[in-house]
Amino acid sequence: MSGAAAAPATSARRLEGAPFASEIRDRVAADVAAYVAGHGHPPGLAVVVCGRSAPSMVYLERILKACAQVGIEGSLVDVPGDDPETQARELTAAIRRLNSDPRVAGIIVQMPLPTGVGLRTVVDAIEPLKDIDGIHPLNAGLLRLGYEGFIPATAHAALEMIHRSGVEVSGADAVVIGRSPVVGMPLAFMLTKEDATVTVCHSRTRDLAAKVRAADIVVVAAGRPGLVTGAMLKPGAVVIDVGINVVDGHIVGDVDFASAERVASAITPVPGGVGPLTNALLLSHLMRAAQRQDQAKERFDA
Ligand code: NAD
Repeated sequence: MSGAAAAPATSARRLEGAPFASEIRDRVAADVAAYVAGHGHPPGLAVVVCGRSAPSMVYLERILKACAQVGIEGSLVDVPGDDPETQARELTAAIRRLNSDPRVAGIIVQMPLPTGVGLRTVVDAIEPLKDIDGIHPLNAGLLRLGYEGFIPATAHAALEMIHRSGVEVSGADAVVIGRSPVVGMPLAFMLTKEDATVTVCHSRTRDLAAKVRAADIVVVAAGRPGLVTGAMLKPGAVVIDVGINVVDGHIVGDVDFASAERVASAITPVPGGVGPLTNALLLSHLMRAAQRQDQAKERFDA
């Protein structure tokens, strides 16, 4: 498909995350085995948690399970503290310890942080070579400039889904709904780098429907169930739904799937679309971090 929209689809192709995730996990498992053969231990992923909530624990346990499946040593690092000052101090100290632990190749910090703990103090503390979710300012800056660094796994997963939809990104009109530093903005930079014409929409955007209707690629990462409906879409558009919301006990995305599916050419379901791919890509980032740390050590030792 080129920049022009394809013929209207009666029912869009569903872009399921599981098959892509499984391919990625197989590749990572092979890389992990080679790493273990060379180092005598698996690469480690540390998940730093400050205050456990039920939904975040579900997400974190999924990551740890995915680590175990490919042979990565996943660990939860619980940070103590009852007040923001103690929590910020303990978080920073825990991250510094992990930065200098040679068995830990990658660090992620569970978001959102406790109320009153500044994002910047935590984000700045992560060693950029271990920042596998691309939140450190160095990695964000590298992405902005189009250089190689670590990108947020969710934005990476959304981009991967766009590629796998078969749409030609170069010259396409893309709308990204959401401008957060972990999804919307990094994705907008990546699509721009691939020569799409990108419109970033957010909570103050006027006439969202008109922006969406003009787009060949629509990525929705707003955390608002039903924000985008089929009536808003250009026939044949590729729709990537990043949203995760709980409505009446069920997980739903930001797109009204039933109506959008009748207009789009390809669409990611929620659950089962971007989410599984995000986890698998996080593991691939971990493996790349381990390899880059080896290369950095070789340069240092030479
Ligand atoms: P966020 O709250 O940081 O940002 C939301 C963005 O949406 C903001 O830029 C805001 O301006 C915009 N927005 C809100 N309401 C809007 C509206 N009515 N119209 C247009 N724009 C609007 O959220 P985030 O961390 O970027 O996450 C976005 C969604 O993606 C959430 O549902 C989150 O749960 C989900 N998420 C999914 C994954 C995954 O793996 N699939 C990972 C991370 C986040």
